Amino acid sequence: MPNQTDTQTDTQTDTQPAPVDLPGEGDWLAWVSQRCRDQLEEAQQQVGLVKAGSSDAPVVLVAWNKAETAIANAEAVALWAEVHPDAAVRDLADDLSQQVQKYVTELGLDRDLYAVFDRLATSSDLSVLDADGRRVLEHTLRDFRRAGVDRDDATRDRLRELSERSVKLSQDFGRNIRDDVRSIRIAPERLAGLPEDYRAAHAPDEDGLVTITTDYPDLVPFITFGSDAAARHELALAQNNVAWPANDQVLQDLLAVRRETAQLLGYDSWPDYDTEVKMIGNGRAVADFIDRVGEAAKERAGDELGVLLERKRVDDPSADAVATYDSRYYSELVRREQYDVDGQVVRTYFPFEQVRQGLLDVTGRLFGLGWTPVAHEDAGTWHDEVASYDVDLDGTRIGRIHLDLHPREGKFKHAAQFDLVKGIAGEQLPEGVLVCNFNRGLMEHDEVVTLFHEFGHLVHHVLGGQGEWARFSGVATEWDFVEAPSQMLEEWAWDADVLATFARNDAGDTIPADLVGAMRRAEHFGKGLYAVQQMSYAARSYWFHAGPHDDLTAYGDELQRRYSVFPPLDGAHMHCAFGHLDGYSSGYYTYMWSLVIAKDLFSAFDPDDLFAADVARAYRDKVLAMGGREDAADLVADFLGRPYSFDSWAAWLAE
Ligand SMILES: [Zn+2]
Repeated sequence: MPNQTDTQTDTQTDTQPAPVDLPGEGDWLAWVSQRCRDQLEEAQQQVGLVKAGSSDAPVVLVAWNKAETAIANAEAVALWAEVHPDAAVRDLADDLSQQVQKYVTELGLDRDLYAVFDRLATSSDLSVLDADGRRVLEHTLRDFRRAGVDRDDATRDRLRELSERSVKLSQDFGRNIRDDVRSIRIAPERLAGLPEDYRAAHAPDEDGLVTITTDYPDLVPFITFGSDAAARHELALAQNNVAWPANDQVLQDLLAVRRETAQLLGYDSWPDYDTEVKMIGNGRAVADFIDRVGEAAKERAGDELGVLLERKRVDDPSADAVATYDSRYYSELVRREQYDVDGQVVRTYFPFEQVRQGLLDVTGRLFGLGWTPVAHEDAGTWHDEVASYDVDLDGTRIGRIHLDLHPREGKFKHAAQFDLVKGIAGEQLPEGVLVCNFNRGLMEHDEVVTLFHEFGHLVHHVLGGQGEWARFSGVATEWDFVEAPSQMLEEWAWDADVLATFARNDAGDTIPADLVGAMRRAEHFGKGLYAVQQMSYAARSYWFHAGPHDDLTAYGDELQRRYSVFPPLDGAHMHCAFGHLDGYSSGYYTYMWSLVIAKDLFSAFDPDDLFAADVARAYRDKVLAMGGREDAADLVADFLGRPYSFDSWAAWLAE
């Protein structure tokens, strides 16, 4: 709707900043490189002002905030490596990211710069700063210490090398996953069980064979509905060998770099270093948490496994185990046969475009936000499948979002929110990007849930991006809290009244409340399995980082046997494609930890009226809009009126 968009842009006469000017059909190589260089130059200039040595704390912090804003803008170049359709732009973005990270490392180890803040903290009158200002100063000093600024010259040189190496290894790890789409080629009759539209989209080629890739829209329906067990096995092996063997060594090198970094900084282990700035507090607590969840879910997981095995024996009386590649398929069958939920019927209510609009309407109503489409030509985005919207609150534009939701070659393979611009009041408008890989036609309900989840990060980025400080802008809380708002928003994708606002099939029928009720009951089946499988991933993430291990495949298999009820898959090397081992390092436990908090946050809502405005607005203002201005535990306590607890989560698991 270009006309509406033009009007929106032209009448923007308030003092809100404009969105960033993306080049659209123009020269992306030049634009990306110019923007990154400009921002780095700005950062250097502001750092120069900080180093000029003013003893006036507010003056120093304002310059430092400008430096941090420019650095964040430069760091956002990493987005282009994940989404740009032109491989040359992706490569350029990787190179520029390395330069930005090199500069960030330099700053962290810069003693003159550190001395300015140290002097402020010890000799200035800090009462001239408000609570935010004091928090900026505290966190800045903490970051310097964690970077190793107070270590001797030789140690700082080594830390510098390790940091550069770590950036390079992270990029290699991600690129190896992104660029390695695997596939199997099978006879068309082996598509038995799959929905009609899937089969139509996978016609045999001239050899008479069908190609199924490891991209999600190919993979997920296949392992959910495909009744040919051998074909599921083949595809699961292909998926679990993405980036193998290349990433095995890359990961070993990355783990070694992290171990040495933690040790040089005086920590017992990388997890101790990593958790120092998280809600959970220390490394040991992560191991304990994994065991606590594993223990709590074990019995339930065993019962559920028994149900899957019993169902598998109907097909194969000699079966004595349920494989990982059976898990989704038999869970789906159990849900269909015992809970009366047919995933193939469910998906007919979720055509992609309708879901996308429904999501905007639901979140708009919940948080009081308006979404105005911005035409592709006006937004200047990188691909014509990207849908952009201006976000307004009470008639004022407060951000812009971009939804890049379908797979393509060379694109990030999972689902995540990326920052394009961090919001700073009066300076720059927050802009975020959702990068997902959904089907273009009908969506699985799982995908709908994922879309709500990822959108939770985007809303957090925009609402939390209205403050003064770059450091607290958007999703800037402790990293083990960041999933909580997203996991809580998933609840809206499970509510019959909410789904009734947009889930309609071709015939125009709304998804029946009975079916949603059955879907919810069916969802409870498998919670135990989910929890223990998650803990087997969390255990890999933690224990891989806790000490050196020569054979990550063998050790991963051992952890799988210890925590999960599914045996490890022979010939699989899942750690090579487990992207979170880079991004979350030892902190994959975050997902379950955040879920504990999410269930607690959700307990404040009335399950019979998820649109109730008062509680949604209180949550918006007390949690999301605060960004990183307070510790997450304090934000949660402020919203709930009490400290967070495990009770709601435990009740949910037992339900
Ligand atoms: Zn998430």
